[in-house]
Amino acid sequence: MYIIIASMIGHVDADCFYVSAERVRYPHLKGMPVGVLGNHGACVIAKSYEMKQAGVPTGGAIWEAVPVCPDAVFVKRDFRWYEILSRKMLAEVQRVSPQVEFYSIDESFFRAVDVRLSAAERLQRAMLDRVGVPVSIGIAPTKTLAKLISDSSKPFGCGVIDDEAARLEILRDRPVTDITGIAKRSARRLSEQGITTCEQFANADRAKIRWLLTKRGEDLWWELNGHSVLPVQTKRPEHKFISRGGSIGRASNDVARVRGFVVRNVERLVEALNHYQLCCDQLILSLLFRDAPERSGRRSLLGSTADFERLVCAALEMMPEVWSPRHASVHYMHVIAGSLWAAGNRQMGLFDDDLYQSNHDRFDAIASVKSQINSRVGRFALRMGSTLPLKDVYADPANEYDICDVHGKMCF
Ligand SMILES: [Mg+2]
Repeated sequence: MYIIIASMIGHVDADCFYVSAERVRYPHLKGMPVGVLGNHGACVIAKSYEMKQAGVPTGGAIWEAVPVCPDAVFVKRDFRWYEILSRKMLAEVQRVSPQVEFYSIDESFFRAVDVRLSAAERLQRAMLDRVGVPVSIGIAPTKTLAKLISDSSKPFGCGVIDDEAARLEILRDRPVTDITGIAKRSARRLSEQGITTCEQFANADRAKIRWLLTKRGEDLWWELNGHSVLPVQTKRPEHKFISRGGSIGRASNDVARVRGFVVRNVERLVEALNHYQLCCDQLILSLLFRDAPERSGRRSLLGSTADFERLVCAALEMMPEVWSPRHASVHYMHVIAGSLWAAGNRQMGLFDDDLYQSNHDRFDAIASVKSQINSRVGRFALRMGSTLPLKDVYADPANEYDICDVHGKMCF
C-alpha cells in the first residue's frame, strides 16, 4: 500500500460524550461513576469509564445498575446542552482543517492538513482546554481506518496510520464488528466464510466481499486496504424522508394520549420541514405495539405542503386504520414525511380541499403567531389542545429537546 500523506483523514471522537458534557458543567462529577439516563429516567444510555469498570451495561435499567454500582451518580440527559458543546467541538476541528464532516453529535471527520501525531495531540489538548471535553483522535489514509485507530486509542489517546506496518497492526486480531458498517448480520455472513477479523476481511477476495455484503462491503474492503473511497462530506446528503417520533414512554392504550403524541410529533416534524425549507407530498404514520405487530398508514397529500393543519389532519385521519383492533398498547411511533421537495419548488395541488382553501389565510396566521410566541417564550409554549393529555411530558423540561431534533447532524 502506498499512503498518500497529502490526502489523510482525521477522526475526532469524544470519550463517553454525554458524561464528559455533564462534567463540563458539574466538575465535581470528575472521577465519579456517572450514568446518564434516557428520556424517561429509566435506562442508562451512557456511562463513565468508572461505571463501566463496575460492570454496568449500557441500555440497562437504573434499578439494575444501582446494586451493581451503589456509589453511582445518575443525571438525566440534556441534548440542548450536548448540542452546544457539539458545535464548540466542531468549531475547534474547523480551526485546523478546511474540510470537516459533522458525522454525529460527538464525532467528526476532517481532511488532515498536518498529519503528525503531535498535530493530533495539539487538537486534543485544545479541545480539552477550550471545550472541556476529552477526545480521542485518529489520522489515517481513509475514514474507516481513521475511525478504527481513534477507537483503539480510547480513552484520551491519539493514533496515526502512516505506513504499512501501522495499517497491518490495527487490523490484526481485531473483530470485524469493530468496523463501522459491519453489524451483527454482516458479521454472521462473513463468519460463515471464515472471516472474523479485520485482517481476514482486508485480505479476502474483493469480489467475494462484494457478493457477501454488496457495494457497501466492497467500499469498506477498499478503505481497510488504504484506498479512500468514502469522501469527507462537508455537505449534508439530501433528505429522502424526515421522521419524528420515538418512544412514548410508558406504553399506552389510551387513544387520547396516543393522539396527543401524534400531534406532538407532527409539530416537531413541521419544525424540521421549516428548518430544512422542505415540503412533502406524502405522510406516513406508524404505531408500534408492545404485544401486536406494527401498523402503518400512508396518505398522499393534495399538493406539497409543510403546513401544520394539513399534516395534522392527514395524520389523525390515519389513526382509526393504524389503531390496534385488539387494544394493544402503543410504545413507539413514527410520523414520516416522504416525497420531499424544496419549499420553493412545491407541487401545487389541483384539487385543494374546500376546508383548506377557505381557511388558508387563517391557518397561516395561526402558524405564524405560534412560531413567533414559541421562539420568544419557549418551544411548545403554544401548542395544539389535543396534546393536553400529555401534561406529564410537557411538564418535564428534558422532553423539550429530542436527539433527532438536533438540526444539521449528519447521522446517528
Ligand atoms: Mg464518542
